Amino acid sequence: MEMDDPVQTLTPPHVLIFPLPAQGHVNSMLKLAELLCLSDFHVTFLVSDHIHNRLLRQTNVHKRFEHYPQFRFETISDGIPTESSRSGTDFLTELIDSLRTVIKPLFRELFCSNRLSYESTRPVTCIIADGVLSFTIDVAEEMGIPIVYFRTISACAFWAYFCIPQLIESGDLPFKGIDLDVPIQSIPGMEDVLRRRDLPANCRVSDLSNKKFQFLSTETRQTPRARALILNTFEDLEGPILSHIRIHMPNVYTIGPLHAHNKPRKAVTSASSNSLLEEDHNCMMWLDAQPSQSVIYISFGSLAMITRTQLMEFWHGVVKSGKRFLWVIRPDLVSDGGGVGQIPIELLEAKMERGYVVEWAPQEEVLDHQAIGGFLTHSGWNSTLESIVAGVPMICWPCIADQQMNSRYVGEVWKLGMDMKDTCDRDIVEKMVKDLMDVKKSELVQSANRMAELAGKAIGKCGSSYCNLDRLIEDIKLMSV
Ligand code: UDP
Repeated sequence: MEMDDPVQTLTPPHVLIFPLPAQGHVNSMLKLAELLCLSDFHVTFLVSDHIHNRLLRQTNVHKRFEHYPQFRFETISDGIPTESSRSGTDFLTELIDSLRTVIKPLFRELFCSNRLSYESTRPVTCIIADGVLSFTIDVAEEMGIPIVYFRTISACAFWAYFCIPQLIESGDLPFKGIDLDVPIQSIPGMEDVLRRRDLPANCRVSDLSNKKFQFLSTETRQTPRARALILNTFEDLEGPILSHIRIHMPNVYTIGPLHAHNKPRKAVTSASSNSLLEEDHNCMMWLDAQPSQSVIYISFGSLAMITRTQLMEFWHGVVKSGKRFLWVIRPDLVSDGGGVGQIPIELLEAKMERGYVVEWAPQEEVLDHQAIGGFLTHSGWNSTLESIVAGVPMICWPCIADQQMNSRYVGEVWKLGMDMKDTCDRDIVEKMVKDLMDVKKSELVQSANRMAELAGKAIGKCGSSYCNLDRLIEDIKLMSV
């Protein structure tokens, strides 16, 4: 028996961390893995072969984790053909199909085989699984291993997904008609905030049997089956919504913003990027040569895709604003574009004068740079938190999933920027960029600085996220006895 064995009780816990195979999920869960390593935990980080191959190419990630001998990667197939695109919304649909048919049996097999037993480490004593992988709870229950969920989205987006049954009962879902400005009254704590257009993009369905909608709704409702819930947020940001969540899941560890913990907690290196793509660091030298707060940084994250027409509207708007820009254009960003040819020649001309374009940026470093004055973002949750920590105001142009909720909270509740959702017009882009960088600059910078300070306090010694992380670490030790 484990408890009678003094060697077993003295050796540290062995945590298996399992994210959904997408940049935003891997990013924040890898950050938690590093923090657990700093507490001398043994950590096995389970990722798809595809993600692992991409991480292998990122020397900074590997170098960082080489410092932790008790850390190891394990791989599992995601069941998706190698040649398939891993961007856009079709990727999630493909993934949903393979979760039960391919990934669940492989995950179970991992525990039945000896693959997770290493000489110097105890068997897995706790699982931290992505909060949309409920099959992991089935397997954990079968194996008698405690499981904690990590949901990588904001508390407000999580709560909206959790309240889908109320949205259906009140008739807010499915969408009937096209008026997206109808107020939503059926989500407790959000009565004065939401319109239909602010619900997660997956809720924009006329048919409730829609696969992604069903997946996110049923997965979210299963959260209370896990022992606890980890959220990458902080109490001063989302306290009121967290109190609603805690009625259903009393044990919520708010430990964010995770990427900012590393500095005070003395990680082995200060660079904490977990990028799956090669970062173009030349843009940092270009930023060094720009005046303070003069540059708008533009990025739509790792998954979102836009049309060539939308890219052109953004380009005209940004160029007409006359502001300097640093723009991330991923090779697969433009759905109907193709290669470098997707960058309009006029953009390349404006780029010579006052812009810089990269395929992938060291985003955390970019946002921390004194030359950055604003962020035109797709409102992914990691990007939102990174902008909050850096005190950079945002223009939000949400594309998919939870991003519609995040942008509403940024604009309406936290007053950290402007929500441009559902429009993509060059005149509006131009006006918003000018508002962000000039007209409304002082009020937005003031509230962005205030929130950045609160984020810093949360992860600082005795702050709410700092204490919750310590509580999580102690609780995992207790679960592992
Ligand atoms: N990111 C980056 N370089 C880029 C664009 C994005 O390192 O050029 C990182 C960004 O810092 C963030 C992540 O990619 O941590 C994107 O996650 P997010 O949740 O914002 O959006 P998603 O990609 O999941 O839609």
